Amino acid sequence: MLPVIGITCSRISLPGGGERFGQNAAYVRAVVDAGGAPVLLALDISEKALRAIYDTLDGLLLSGGVDVAPHRYGEMPHPRLGDVDAGRDEVELTVTHWAVADDLPVLAICRGIQLLNVALGGTLYQDIASQVPGALAHPYQEGNSRGHIAHTVDVVPGSHLYRILQPENGVLPVNSMHHQAVKDVAPGCVITARAPDGIIEGLEEPTRRFVVGVQWHPEEMVANDARMRPLFAHFVAAARWK
Ligand code: MN
Repeated sequence: MLPVIGITCSRISLPGGGERFGQNAAYVRAVVDAGGAPVLLALDISEKALRAIYDTLDGLLLSGGVDVAPHRYGEMPHPRLGDVDAGRDEVELTVTHWAVADDLPVLAICRGIQLLNVALGGTLYQDIASQVPGALAHPYQEGNSRGHIAHTVDVVPGSHLYRILQPENGVLPVNSMHHQAVKDVAPGCVITARAPDGIIEGLEEPTRRFVVGVQWHPEEMVANDARMRPLFAHFVAAARWK
């Protein structure tokens, strides 16, 4: 049996009205290439329906997307806050609480690491550029590919992330498509990677088998950069042993 990996979805507005729930193919391909069976988790379903789906999962991939609503971490909206999605926050916070409690493997990417941090009691910078003086350019830059290497991260020795990725001299080149970042780290989580400007780019819950968050987009790098493949391989392998 292949491990079933739930991938959270975005809400996509359609021209002329209507909505679509979906997620970038790169997440699906990265899970498939690592030996997992991906399933997209719809939004706007009852908690009972979400639970029924959750009970079939062996792993949870928290994907990228819009900003987490700041009231979820006790803050008022900053003027540079981007779009939010209350329904998506609800689904993702609910499944994340279940998964962490059950020690289900979680790979949290971009918005995912932010959501994971908020779910476990941490806070976010609502806009890096206006709240962190001297920060690097972390948001997507017009004209760059999604795999474009934007900056490096220093990976913390002894972390799951370090053991999995084995970065040369502890340094990894990564892409960067985010305007928010982890501010106060959730109780029980540890920092596993930082950008040269100090922005937190990796988190994990060390008492769990695999609860790993990264601020970059490894799913957009794996096609051209074998260094990121072990992240998905270890995630899916951990899910195999639910
Ligand atoms: Mn970054």
